[in-house]
Amino acid sequence: MQVTGTHIAYLHICHRKLWLFANGIQMEHTSETVSEGKLIAETTYLDRARKYTELSIDGIKIDFYDAGNKTIHEVKKSDKVEQAHFAQVKYYLYVLVRNGIDGPEAIIEYPKLKQRELVAWNEDDVPEIERWMRDVKEIVSSDQCPAAINARICKSCSYYELCYVEEV
Ligand code: SF4
Repeated sequence: MQVTGTHIAYLHICHRKLWLFANGIQMEHTSETVSEGKLIAETTYLDRARKYTELSIDGIKIDFYDAGNKTIHEVKKSDKVEQAHFAQVKYYLYVLVRNGIDGPEAIIEYPKLKQRELVAWNEDDVPEIERWMRDVKEIVSSDQCPAAINARICKSCSYYELCYVEEV
């Protein structure tokens, strides 16, 4: 399988979410959160499409890539900075480096927080990123869907009903 940025992010959020998503159970289109994210992408960052390139490479899709400065701009609708965001972007940087782009950077932008986080490429991250990739493949290929995690984030997850209502 080809590991994507979404797989890496979900690995850091919930293994069950990762498994459901990767096994073709997708409910994101019904999620208000996703609609909200799209709205932010379409309004706050409307002019970005003119400035930056959309880049698809090795299974990842970067919406806003500044090729001149070798910089990824990743927009997050979240109102808090999360480890999953950093992991996803580090994976993007990893893929770029593996495809011959030297010293890329990423900027994670949080419009709601009016905050930006710079993520520089660090070769020392490679073993950890490759471990994430192995973990994703192991979880996704399992016959068993991981258990629900009963966490606060579940309430805003698109799989909430599947995890806590439909199984009753
Ligand atoms: S509702 Fe909770 S347990 Fe279910 S997939 Fe989402 S985060 Fe995971």
